[in-house]
Amino acid sequence: MIPLKEAVLLGMYDAFEKWVEEDLACKKGCATCCTQNVVITAVEGELIHRFIREHEKREWFAAKFQKKAKTRRPELTTNGFAASCLEGNDVEPDSYGSGEPCPFLEKDCCSIYEVRPFSCRCFASTAVCRPGVPALIGETYLSASTAVMQIIEHLGQGEFLGNMLDVLLALCGVSENRKYYKLLPASMADQGLANVVKALPLPGFLLLEEDMEIVAPLLESIFSTKVGDRTIEDILNNK
Ligand code: SF4
Ligand code: SF4
Repeated sequence: MIPLKEAVLLGMYDAFEKWVEEDLACKKGCATCCTQNVVITAVEGELIHRFIREHEKREWFAAKFQKKAKTRRPELTTNGFAASCLEGNDVEPDSYGSGEPCPFLEKDCCSIYEVRPFSCRCFASTAVCRPGVPALIGETYLSASTAVMQIIEHLGQGEFLGNMLDVLLALCGVSENRKYYKLLPASMADQGLANVVKALPLPGFLLLEEDMEIVAPLLESIFSTKVGDRTIEDILNNK
């Protein structure tokens, strides 16, 4: 049985996938967007580590980190950014990854597809991206994805948040993953720990009134999803 937080995360992924109505250009084998600029929380990282352990992929996983580019510590998490905006500050969204290809990309397909994090699940475009032509997506879709990202951060509050590769490295310190330590280049797990910050609780959503008609059903669907005998809303509220 998977831990409660991971089950809640899977419930959110599922609700988001059912909500998406856009006619997207994203297809298997299209992967210009698969870079090392992906942000995750510890819960998302734990799901990936579980996949690595269950598929006996420890050596494979360690080898992936030979391709890790330089990353940095986030200055603001999504909820930190939202809190600052709600206080009326003029802030820019943060980026702490690299445009280098994601090491989990193999033959233009994601090798951890079933456990890929939310940043990868929501990144989409209505026209095929090409070098110099970035993803094209509506504002409401972006607001909805940001809202879901905020709920995911809330779920993992107090735990690691950062670049995907840094969070995965930092989680190598957890007892189930300790076997990876000796497979990784010395000091790499420490590098991960130095580059992660703590996830924050939800300060409120950054949703415009005009987005609500489309985004509210998604939020309702997430909050009313049952995990065991409780809804995600009750779990998030510790009821
Ligand atoms: S976001 Fe762009 S590069 Fe990524 S799958 Fe969609 S169309 Fe392809
Ligand atoms: S984890 Fe998978 S979907 Fe996400 S960037 Fe890497 S290869 Fe792409």
